[in-house]
Amino acid sequence: MTQIKNIGVYTSGGDSPGMNAAIRAVVRTAIYYNLEVTGIRRGYDGMIKGDLFPMNRKSVSNIIGRGGTILKTARSEQFKTPEGRKLAHEQLLANGVDALVAIGGDGTFTGARIFGEEFDFPIVGLPGTIDNDLCGTDFTIGYDTAINTVINAVDKIRDTAESHDRLFIVEVMGRDSGLIALRTGIASGAEAILIPESKTDLAAVFERLESGRKDKSSKIIMVAESGEVSDAFEIGKQIKERFPQYDTRISILGHIQRGGRPSCMDRVLASRVGVAAVEGLMKGHRNEMVGLIHNQIAFTPFEHAIKHNIDINEDFLKIVEILSI
Ligand code: ATP
Repeated sequence: MTQIKNIGVYTSGGDSPGMNAAIRAVVRTAIYYNLEVTGIRRGYDGMIKGDLFPMNRKSVSNIIGRGGTILKTARSEQFKTPEGRKLAHEQLLANGVDALVAIGGDGTFTGARIFGEEFDFPIVGLPGTIDNDLCGTDFTIGYDTAINTVINAVDKIRDTAESHDRLFIVEVMGRDSGLIALRTGIASGAEAILIPESKTDLAAVFERLESGRKDKSSKIIMVAESGEVSDAFEIGKQIKERFPQYDTRISILGHIQRGGRPSCMDRVLASRVGVAAVEGLMKGHRNEMVGLIHNQIAFTPFEHAIKHNIDINEDFLKIVEILSI
């Protein structure tokens, strides 16, 4: 095992609150152990173009509470090609980088796994995505902040829904995962939650609206984006047709879910896994993601982390059914 001297760090894919706290943890831990650390801007795109710079203790001063990522993030089609990855490898060698910490989601780790195997390059990943859709960690960096952003927004929507006796269909992010919708649906007292993973369909929602209390003044239906039953507008159209008596409105929360100051939970998670990533690289870990399982640091191979077979807790859907009477 060759000794690591210079760790490169980058953020890639969609940004998430807490990525800065993770960058800070990686940089400070590397310096603590007398390693050099190199920042790579705009993920794989910057790696290919040689947008690398040395980082020091001060490079990460006062960023722990900031949303977004100071390293910027990007998507790179070029990195999906062997030629693109070869260019990236040349840039890393030219800058003396001999190990990497990748902060991102499943696409980022897919790229990292291919690159790591192709060039026998040590890479450890940190789960940076609001979607919470990675195996090998109970929570991803940014998820806690995002769900708190959602419930704060839905509380406000609830105020106006209540005042006007309205039914609101609220669409939240999550790509192919309903984990944001599931948790925030419970936390905001939704009547129903529509997520890609569950068998819940519009017929079940109709039934709930039909059998539910007629004197309820506000109703919230939480929908995960790209769910099986199409988007919030389509669902809204069908509900309007079926229940013309309801004053139905649609609210797509959109990118506010990605921004904002990271919560305490996300800052602590990012700090813990950031320290563990650098220590893990020094101990010989590679091609793995660092997460927290039952509050303990855990390393999971990239190919398992990106599997997308996260079971949803069916109890959560039952809770919604019971509590929305
Ligand atoms: P989020 O879940 O927040 O969207 P992500 O990491 O999944 O984050 P992606 O856009 O899917 O975001 O992936 C980020 C980058 O990873 C891509 O732009 C691409 O450069 C690289 N990548 C993804 N898939 C591959 C692949 N099969 N081969 C090589 N690189 C890949």
